[in-house]
Amino acid sequence: MRPLLFAANWKMHLGPDAARAYLDQFLAGYTPQPDRKVWFFPPAISLDTVSRRIAGRPDLLAGAQDVHWEPKGAFTGATSVPLAAEAGARAALVGHSERRHVFGETDADTARKVRAVLAGGLVPVLCVGETLAQREAGETLAVARRQLLAALDGLETDALRRVVIAYEPVWAIGTGRNATPADAAQVHSEIRSWLTGRGAASPMVLYGGSVNLKNIAELLAERELDGVLVGGASLDAATWVQLVSTPVA
Ligand code: PEP
Repeated sequence: MRPLLFAANWKMHLGPDAARAYLDQFLAGYTPQPDRKVWFFPPAISLDTVSRRIAGRPDLLAGAQDVHWEPKGAFTGATSVPLAAEAGARAALVGHSERRHVFGETDADTARKVRAVLAGGLVPVLCVGETLAQREAGETLAVARRQLLAALDGLETDALRRVVIAYEPVWAIGTGRNATPADAAQVHSEIRSWLTGRGAASPMVLYGGSVNLKNIAELLAERELDGVLVGGASLDAATWVQLVSTPVA
């Protein structure tokens, strides 16, 4: 079986009590599978709870949804990489479309954050993806390349090899519309060749955008997809158990 990564982005849901109940249900229902990893991105307030509850399970990991690039300082409301790591995070999302399009995060911010995450010893999960207008203008691949270049240019090969990419078309996030497996595969292939061209041997490229129980099997049948980043359909533990247990050839 090929290695697959299932990442749950809980966004602004599931505080510590709800996270604990969720994980009790998840751990009781999910049978670990070889080559299958499940990563949880809870809100910062629940990171410690999640990382403690999954301790000792090498197939499970907790990560931060966002981090600041500075290790400490007067940045009210922000979470630094060292603080996230202290709460058990071993990965961090960078440049999620909600950070870019709701909070105005720039390409330059993603570059600083990727470097901070790497410097702190965590795995950056860099999110890239086009808006509907950019897709309709035929700019999908160009946007992915621009976001990769802006965030990753100049990284040493060793650092580049640690980066996971999530291709998340903005128009597909939380909308119920998802890219077809073939559309996603085309972008994944472009992302993969961008990374391998710079020395990343076998990059992990996830797809995100309205993934659910109905479309997961069809999406993962496309071998360009190394896994998925899921928002809405990850919020219910029973649904998430089913989703991450999906049989894949
Ligand atoms: C996301 O938040 O990264 C995401 C893909 O959300 P959803 O699955 O709800 O579209």
